[in-house]
Amino acid sequence: MADPTPRRAAVALNITIIGAGLGGLSAAISCALAGHNVLVLEGAKQLAEIGAGLQITPNASRLFAQWDILERLRPLAAEPTYLAVRRYSDGKILSLTEDFNDDMMRKYGAPFWDLHRVDLQRMMYDRAIELGAKVRLGARVADIDFETPSLTLEGGEVLNADLLVGADGLWSKCRERFLATEGKTDAPLPTGDLAYRIVLKADEIEDTELRDWIKNASVNFWAGPGAHVVAYSLRGGEMFNIVLLQPDDLPEGVARQAGTASEMRESLKGWDPVLTRFLNHVKEVDKWKLMHRPELDSWVSEKSNFVFLGDACHPMLPYLAQGANSSLEDGAVLGHVIATLESKVQLPQALAMYEQLRKKRGEAIVRETFAQRHDFHMPDGPEQEQRDRLMLSKLGKKIDVKFPSRWQCESDVQPWLYGYDAKAETEAALKSSPYT
Ligand SMILES: Cc1cc2nc3c(=O)[nH]c(=O)nc-3n(C[C@H](O)[C@H](O)[C@H](O)COP(=O)(O)OP(=O)(O)OC[C@H]3O[C@@H](n4cnc5c(N)ncnc54)[C@H](O)[C@@H]3O)c2cc1C
Repeated sequence: MADPTPRRAAVALNITIIGAGLGGLSAAISCALAGHNVLVLEGAKQLAEIGAGLQITPNASRLFAQWDILERLRPLAAEPTYLAVRRYSDGKILSLTEDFNDDMMRKYGAPFWDLHRVDLQRMMYDRAIELGAKVRLGARVADIDFETPSLTLEGGEVLNADLLVGADGLWSKCRERFLATEGKTDAPLPTGDLAYRIVLKADEIEDTELRDWIKNASVNFWAGPGAHVVAYSLRGGEMFNIVLLQPDDLPEGVARQAGTASEMRESLKGWDPVLTRFLNHVKEVDKWKLMHRPELDSWVSEKSNFVFLGDACHPMLPYLAQGANSSLEDGAVLGHVIATLESKVQLPQALAMYEQLRKKRGEAIVRETFAQRHDFHMPDGPEQEQRDRLMLSKLGKKIDVKFPSRWQCESDVQPWLYGYDAKAETEAALKSSPYT
């Protein structure tokens, strides 16, 4: 159901968002709902999401209800009935949450869904347009003037706005120009890992056991030495998304490159045979270098006329599936902090509140993704044996301790991630420090 009373600002700002990824579209929907005039500039000539899956956790799916797209997305989702962590070599279950979908709804009041990225991006794009946002595709930003503020598109066109939003992802031009104002530069840094991303269609697979895996939606991890695999269904069980996370062997400076199905299978030699059976269906596959970036000092420009969100300011390892989810949170909070503006003069206070609500959390999630890598990638040995003993000791029990699978850690990481409510957080902040 739509947010029954979306607040609308007393003054409508002209907001230009750079990038129509999930973060940019979240900001577009949220800022349009708050009554502002929104223009999104997207460099790609067509919407650019890649043809792969995405885990959407309750902290983001609760926003879909507020944006009135939850029910429209439901038929496109797969809702995992269990989540399991397995030993890499034989698939033995180390940790299991049964009735995972019900557990999520009960605890967080919003679903855990696996979606095809293209479905989500298309739905958010359509909703943004429905709410009055304008989107220009093939409009690549080449430069930004943080004084005016204004931006220059490739081709020379100059556009002014009251507020610019840098949502242009890991390789952000906004970030490059922003740092240049301080005489600084930085660049995406290798994390040391890469991802093979695979999507299989159930109706192209004859093996009935594999089809059952796909039809009965679940989330499975296989944790191995220096690597892990995650697999889940998409589109109500029509498709299967598999991601292999492994040590990076791509040349320096190469972010994405075609891999071969045989080298990929070779890399999982000695792993659970069911994985090899899935991988035997792969014909083509790409390798993606996983990158991160140093923390920025600030996400807001000195004149409070520019703000960052998403991968442009907090790219992370995908090991907690929070990159997109947290960029959706960013966009939602941005919309909420500018929904109560009574005049443009209050914009600096609103953006300071946005930064205060988002920066610490975004950067903490980044750090947690590296901690998850440590726990999922342990080499066989005493530390791994201790980890497995702990996981096995909690089979069938409440996971009320610090747990190697943060996805299931009920005492700590899971409620911190999935329990986050962008709207409630902003309302509490506005109540304790209203704009003057
Ligand atoms: C293997 C893998 C699996 C993942 N799985 C998950 C998951 O399950 N759940 C999850 O939450 N996250 C996941 N992530 C992370 C997630 O994909 C990203 O964090 C998220 O998509 C970032 O969104 P964004 O909008 O900030 O950036 P992007 O999606 O990168 O969007 C940026 C947009 O800006 C445009 N752009 C760039 N430069 C310009 C310019 N100069 N002018 C105009 N437009 C420009 C781009 O074309 C693009 O459309 C995964 C990542 C990887 C690598």
